[in-house]
Amino acid sequence: MTNEKMNYCYFRKQIVPLEKATVNVSCQTMQYGSSCFSGIRGYYRDGKVRLFRLRDHYDRLMEGSKILSFGFFMEYENFERIIEDLVIANAPQEDFYIRPFIFTEDDSLGPRFDTPEFDMTVYMKPLNNYYDPDKGLRMMISSWRKMSDASISVKAKAGGSYLNSSLATTEAKRCGYDEALLLDQSGAIAEGSATNLLLEYQGNVITPPTGSATLNGITLRTAIQLLQSEGIPVRFEAIDRSMVYTSNELILTGTAAQVNFASSVDGREMAKSSTGPPGPLCQLLRGLFDEVLNMKSPFSDKWITEFSLKSEEAVVA
Ligand code: PMP
Repeated sequence: MTNEKMNYCYFRKQIVPLEKATVNVSCQTMQYGSSCFSGIRGYYRDGKVRLFRLRDHYDRLMEGSKILSFGFFMEYENFERIIEDLVIANAPQEDFYIRPFIFTEDDSLGPRFDTPEFDMTVYMKPLNNYYDPDKGLRMMISSWRKMSDASISVKAKAGGSYLNSSLATTEAKRCGYDEALLLDQSGAIAEGSATNLLLEYQGNVITPPTGSATLNGITLRTAIQLLQSEGIPVRFEAIDRSMVYTSNELILTGTAAQVNFASSVDGREMAKSSTGPPGPLCQLLRGLFDEVLNMKSPFSDKWITEFSLKSEEAVVA
């Protein structure tokens, strides 16, 4: 992969050009998807960058390593330093995405996590809107079910588990839709291919229970905290497909997707957002997120890591 704009990555404990960050094709991460990863949004504003909930992304990445028993751990201060050095080296002039992941170069044939040595690598990419913010997604309930945590951890952001997301999205696109919604093994609505969800159904805002087949999404948690601060409670309840078909709004949340909305699911239109513009819940949430990013929310200081690009020079190998 080459990435002309953000050409540096962190690899083998150094910042190097992406083309030098190569691994052997026989390594376990390549063969078996043995990795866990994170995705962090970076916003470029007036020569400074703002990273969204860096500490929470770090915590979830380390939890992923623990769940999968990779034996890899790094202190937060070290992680933060690496991310800041990499951002400074890449000197972004636009919004971007940071992808840290824990991987192994071990090339033993037998798939297992306890013996190989795992390390962390990080790269960046420019990223503006992942989905068109003004046009609701036409979604399809996938024939692929979200795997259960009894088979592969759904909380670890494990690389291999994204084969499930790829299958669902590929099917949805082939059938002429924009995105997939996945049912869990019991037939309840779980999440999108890379998003959590909130439903506005009969006047209540509902999301699937934390212990269901969903990622512990940081954007979802943010949305819930912001809604609660506005006096709007969010209920954690099982959602079935009939509820989705008859809901007022279906909101999709994710680091890449940010706060987005569905216009229809399996051809059934959402009552308050069938043709765009987004419905009232989506608009409220977007406004609250903007306040956070513009450092105008009581949550901004806690959730935003801000630093200047010119303050220091990163050491590039
Ligand atoms: N579910 C899945 C399967 C995802 O890949 C993502 C994206 N990380 C999400 C939900 C949303 O999580 P977050 O808000 O932390 O990005």
